[in-house]
Amino acid sequence: MELAIIVIKSYVLIGYALSVVSLLIMAELIDIKEHKFVTEFFNQSLTKDHLARSYLLTGRDLGSKHQLVKQMNMVLNCSANKDLVLRAACGTCQSCRWIELATHPRTPIYLRPDAESKTHVIKVDQIRELQGELSQSSEFFRIVIIEDASSAVLNPNSSAALLKTIEEAREGTLFMLFAESRSSVLSTIVSRSQVLALNNNSDKEFTEAARELSDELREFFGSNNASSRLAQLMKAEEISSRENKDLVGALQILQNDFSNSADLAQADLVLQYEKAISSLKSSVRPQLVLAELFLLS
Ligand SMILES: [Zn+2]
Repeated sequence: MELAIIVIKSYVLIGYALSVVSLLIMAELIDIKEHKFVTEFFNQSLTKDHLARSYLLTGRDLGSKHQLVKQMNMVLNCSANKDLVLRAACGTCQSCRWIELATHPRTPIYLRPDAESKTHVIKVDQIRELQGELSQSSEFFRIVIIEDASSAVLNPNSSAALLKTIEEAREGTLFMLFAESRSSVLSTIVSRSQVLALNNNSDKEFTEAARELSDELREFFGSNNASSRLAQLMKAEEISSRENKDLVGALQILQNDFSNSADLAQADLVLQYEKAISSLKSSVRPQLVLAELFLLS
């Protein structure tokens, strides 16, 4: 009998030691391929306890989006991280293991068009059902995943119901919406979500739209208009609705121009553009980033 207790105690101790070791190893979210800024962004949000209620992850890399959400799910639900002081999951507790094996009974919740539905639309009834589920108290942090949040799947009716659900959701609920591009999603959803772009290397080649936008900006900065604060703000507002990757691309093209210029006065601008590009990538509101940048240009 006593031996059994000693054996159990040593197992508990070994388990505890293992979880401490793994806590030290998993100090924060692990970078996902080339999407380092996104993991860094979430590390900071977790540290500052500044999580938004709803995120829209854009780009074609579905695998990376799932990896990211899985890590978030682990960190937010890990029993060794109850007060969320860490940006880490132990990887060994019941909750972590459930999430690892995709067998967690309460999270994540997938919201998808009904398999039998011919329309491939998420229906308002499904969202009401979700709302009912989320209104129940839970000891777990609930992550709702919508793998296709495009307007074809989340139409105006279902979007309205979803926005209400997001607004009324209890603490400890996080909505993760996926879409290929920001422009494929209804603007009401975009405006209430923090948008993060997970671009692939192939996306880094400048789009036609990015090139056109960089030409447009060169023309603007070359005109007399560019020195007027009002004109700068209007230009920032006007182009801020463009696709994030086109904005980033256009700024990168202009930044290249400055880098190649022999004018030393441009060196400062290169840094300002770098800062603006990284802000846009971390989904700071484009209007703010551009208005600040144009004032300096
Ligand atoms: Zn854990």
